[in-house]
Amino acid sequence: MSTFQPVRGMRDLLAQDAETLTYVISKARENAQLYGFQEVITPIVEPLELLSAKSGDEIRQRMFIFDDLGGRRVALRPEFTASIARLATTALRSEPKPFRLFSVGSVYRYDEPQRGRYREFWQANFELMGSAKPEADAEIILLANSLLKNVGLTGYAIKLGHIGIVKAILAQEGVDDKTQNAVFQKMDKKEFEAAYALLNAKCRAVLEGLVALKGETSAETVEKLREHIKGYEGAVASVDNLAAILKLVTEAGCSIQKVDPAFARGLEYYTGIIFELYVPELDIALGGGGRYDKLIEAFGGEPTPAIGMAAGLDRIGLAIQAQKTVLKKHQQKKVMVIAIKEDQKGDALKIAQKLRDEGISAEFEVMGRKMAKALEDADKRNTDYAVIVGERELKEGKVVVKDLANRTQAEVEISALAQKIRS
Ligand code: AMP
Repeated sequence: MSTFQPVRGMRDLLAQDAETLTYVISKARENAQLYGFQEVITPIVEPLELLSAKSGDEIRQRMFIFDDLGGRRVALRPEFTASIARLATTALRSEPKPFRLFSVGSVYRYDEPQRGRYREFWQANFELMGSAKPEADAEIILLANSLLKNVGLTGYAIKLGHIGIVKAILAQEGVDDKTQNAVFQKMDKKEFEAAYALLNAKCRAVLEGLVALKGETSAETVEKLREHIKGYEGAVASVDNLAAILKLVTEAGCSIQKVDPAFARGLEYYTGIIFELYVPELDIALGGGGRYDKLIEAFGGEPTPAIGMAAGLDRIGLAIQAQKTVLKKHQQKKVMVIAIKEDQKGDALKIAQKLRDEGISAEFEVMGRKMAKALEDADKRNTDYAVIVGERELKEGKVVVKDLANRTQAEVEISALAQKIRS
């Protein structure tokens, strides 16, 4: 046996794992279409400068960075948003707003590998650019909700916060941007003591109050929040914005949000609401996102408000497996075409081609096995039908179709073969 193994934190996905991931990818793509998102494909390797510009220390320190042979400093993308923001400042610069863009693919972070945390993982990314209105935020939250619903998950929740609340409080208290970002990094990791240690007593007290703040419902949390932040003008505006988005989402029939006023995320570019998706079976987020109104401008584009979200497809796959979700896929019948003798191989191949032309998945027996062995092998591979091509039947324009589940067989006209297998 070879001793070659994948690089630490990277995985080979086989059988059920591969099937689950491709299923989640197809559902994400379907969801993009449902919400009017156009798919774009961007490079996996990007200039380091682009990727590190606004992502925040957390991600900056965990990128796979190298020099290409031309001496360019490049990195494997740790997320999609920077690439999409670049598009907004270049190819899509003059595109009428808003635009809705979808991407799916692998991303790379030098995270410490554990269950649900890999160094190569898959994201489906949705960005809605050009609107600062709460309805754009609501669309993204509803999309996140639909994605989890449509893959078949149950009991999921969206944790919702607004980065503008803590930002405005800290800014009004004279805390600089760099310290603010450091505070958010700590809060993201729930290291609240470490976050408080960066602040003076007054800020600490306000922040502690936010962490402790909880209502029975999202609406009640927002009301308590209003009381708590009185006197911080910017924070009041952020709570109003959060309340307006919550109202829209609730009126649209989605009541799965839980407001957490002390919630922060690792990425540095957020300016408005932030959110994460959870299921009870896993204590890690299945996805997350937020509003980032200044990023495109920072990349040299026109001021363009934007909101986006990334779903962690590997983790959605884990949730599917944990909930034993049945994959709602269009089940393809599997066929094995076997020639009885050497002489019929050409005709048998032609029959396999005809099935494929008609959209039926067919394998041709390529091991030169005798019929009994070939059927045994087809059975082991969960094949539905064996199509047996023999001299006598062929002369009459027919083949034998063996139903491997029921152990029955019948002669079928070649012209009606696809029809028979479909039925
Ligand atoms: P982010 O780009 O940090 O907002 O992350 C979006 C989503 O990607 C998270 O909610 C996770 O579901 C997923 N994710 C982030 N890091 C990893 C990782 N190392 N392995 C697997 N999934 C991840």
